[in-house]
Order: sequence, then structure tokens, then C-alpha cells
Amino acid sequence: MVRIESLSFAYGNSGFQLRIPEFSLEDGERVAVVGPSGSGKTTLLYLIAGILTPDAGQIDVAGTDVAILSDTARRRFRASQIGFVFQDFALLDYLSARQNILYPYRITPALTLDKAVRDRAERLAAACGIGDKLDRHPNALSQGEQQRVAICRALVTQPKLILSDEATGNLDPDSKARILDLLFEQAAEAGAAVLAVTHDHELLPRFERVLDFAEFRTGAAA
Ligand code: ADP
Ligand code: MG
Repeated sequence: MVRIESLSFAYGNSGFQLRIPEFSLEDGERVAVVGPSGSGKTTLLYLIAGILTPDAGQIDVAGTDVAILSDTARRRFRASQIGFVFQDFALLDYLSARQNILYPYRITPALTLDKAVRDRAERLAAACGIGDKLDRHPNALSQGEQQRVAICRALVTQPKLILSDEATGNLDPDSKARILDLLFEQAAEAGAAVLAVTHDHELLPRFERVLDFAEFRTGAAA
């Protein structure tokens, strides 16, 4: 699903450098990403999603080198193939929770919004415990509820790859386990792979593998 080779990326000459010699994520595999704050976990997810472009090396997602796509093609690819749960949720305040969940269908001509999709959005929202809050806007939802909206938006397109950046960060322990169950359940149903940044070490046994950023040479090149 994801194949990375000799990846190198820096934010200008800020001193931070991410280098990943080799990493792959198989179809349907569930891998947790751990590592200290500032070690580049979010940066890696952005690179895989094509939000950032590597300085050197190769990233293939579902057999496509996202870096060589045009901006439009890359956005379409991302919206149709990848579900991304952002660390800061990235919800739009002028849209209701329902409209936020269905947002990928607004921006991607390749996706068609029909009754089946609307029903799926309702089911996901109900399973996430926000079924009765779909008409509210993000500013009238708690952090945890906003997080659930973000998770529903990532799942609604039934993507083959789910990238999750601390998706359970703001939830209580029970909700954490439940949301992760839901994420895995949906992923299994769609045959999707999951790459999830998490600080919840008690959740790690539920993943098949852990990618520890301590293994990579990150930080300023000495
Ligand atoms: P993590 O998710 O592991 O906490 P990040 O990937 O967010 O780490 O950040 C890795 C490093 O890159 C940090 O040192 C951070 O300050 C820096 N960084 C993140 N975004 C930018 C940016 N847009 N411009 C410059 N530096 C950035
Ligand atoms: Mg981060």
C-alpha cells in the first residue's frame, strides 16, 4: 500500500531533517507510529498523503508516485484513496458536522454523493456517538465530538489507506478503545491499511507492528 525508499525531507533550512531509508505498509496492515514530539511523525503522514513533497527518495501509494502528480491530480488521489484524520481535526466551521463528514464529496468530482453515501455517513456518525449532533457546527461541539467528526470524514469514502494523527488523543479511555475498534472495523471492511500516530501505549498491542521514530536519524544533520 505504501512503499518508501531513501526518503529525505527538510522544512527549508530549519535544521529539522527526516530520513527514512526504507518503510513499507502492506495492504490491510495496521501499523502504529510512535516517537517523541517533534520527531517527524506528522511530517511523515503529510509526505505519504502528498501534502508535502520529499526532497529526495521515493514514496509510492497504491503503486502511484504521488510526488509526480499535478496538484489537482494529487488532491483527487488523496480524496479518493486516503482517509486522513488530522491532529488538529481541520474541520470547517461554516459547515455542519454532516457537511464536514461529506466534504470529500464536495471537492472531488471522482466521488459521487448518493443515498448510499449519506446513509453510510449517518451510520458512521451513530457508531461514533455523534448521530444526534450532525446539524451542529464544529464550534458547538466538544473537542472529542469534533474528533469523531474528523474520524467519520476520514472513513466515509471507504479509503484503501487510513492515516491517523493521534485520532484518539482527546478522548477518554473507553472512547479511545471504541473509536479504535470502529477505525479497525471500517478498515477491515474496506480492506484498508491503517498507519496511526499514537501516544497511547496501551493501544499498541492492537496493532500488528509499531514504527518507532527512535529508529530513524532525525534532527539536524551533525
Ligand atoms: P511530530 O508530529 O513527531 O511531533 P512534526 O512532524 O510535526 O513532529 O514536526 C517535526 C519537526 O519539524 C519539528 O521540529 C517541527 O517544529 C518542525 N516543523 C513542522 N512543521 C514545520 C513547518 N511548517 N515549518 C518548519 N518546521 C516545521
Ligand atoms: Mg504530530
